[in-house]
Amino acid sequence: MTATGEQLAYADAYARSITATVRHVEGEDAPLIVLDRTIFYPGGGGQPADRGVLLRAADGRTWTVRAARKAGSEIAHELEPDGDPPAVGDTLQVDIDWARRFALMRTHTALHALCGVVWRDHGAQVTGGNMEPGSGRMDFEFESMSGDLVDSIEATVNRELAAERDVRVAILPRAEAFAIPDLIRTKINLLPDGIEQIRTIEIVGLDLQADGGTHVANTREVGQIRVTGYESKGRINKRIRIELMDPNA
Ligand SMILES: [Zn+2]
Repeated sequence: MTATGEQLAYADAYARSITATVRHVEGEDAPLIVLDRTIFYPGGGGQPADRGVLLRAADGRTWTVRAARKAGSEIAHELEPDGDPPAVGDTLQVDIDWARRFALMRTHTALHALCGVVWRDHGAQVTGGNMEPGSGRMDFEFESMSGDLVDSIEATVNRELAAERDVRVAILPRAEAFAIPDLIRTKINLLPDGIEQIRTIEIVGLDLQADGGTHVANTREVGQIRVTGYESKGRINKRIRIELMDPNA
């Protein structure tokens, strides 16, 4: 195969429709399709893969994309089983399920705001996280966490979101990224040696992380959140669950 297809979600999270050409088709029951360019996010870092639709302009035939995933360096689109897949060379209109993706972008950004507040105000490191559209959870090494503290964290996160902070994406050479003290806490040092470029997400003035996901451009788009629960996963490890106050905004 020629050079890897363009992967636009990493550079422009707001791209929701493009035209692309089929480069590779594999499998019959749930065919995997590789395109010369795509806006699908393949999942990773706690953010689920996009869903969407492929439309062949030539005859109006459509296919439902039920998931996307990394396949080597490519992003493969997994189709619902539905008769013949598109053919190599076909021109397709590629649409992601935007309402779902935008909810994920808002949720992902809210989780970064939560990480930023917990780190800045309590010095607790994040150890993991996961999300669905509109809700998510983060795990912290946070021995002193309590119900009162969680209430104040919720209020602080909402204040930070309301401050309309810009959210910026950058791609840094590895050495430069490793020189940023804030990035070390997110266990950037676990990244394999072969990775030469580090993608970072910054909520300006609040949080900076190495991250592969999609986020909104300003915290005002998140709206407000509420903490829906917290639990101890041991003496040190604690989990905080949040949801968007308005998941369909
Ligand atoms: Zn993230």
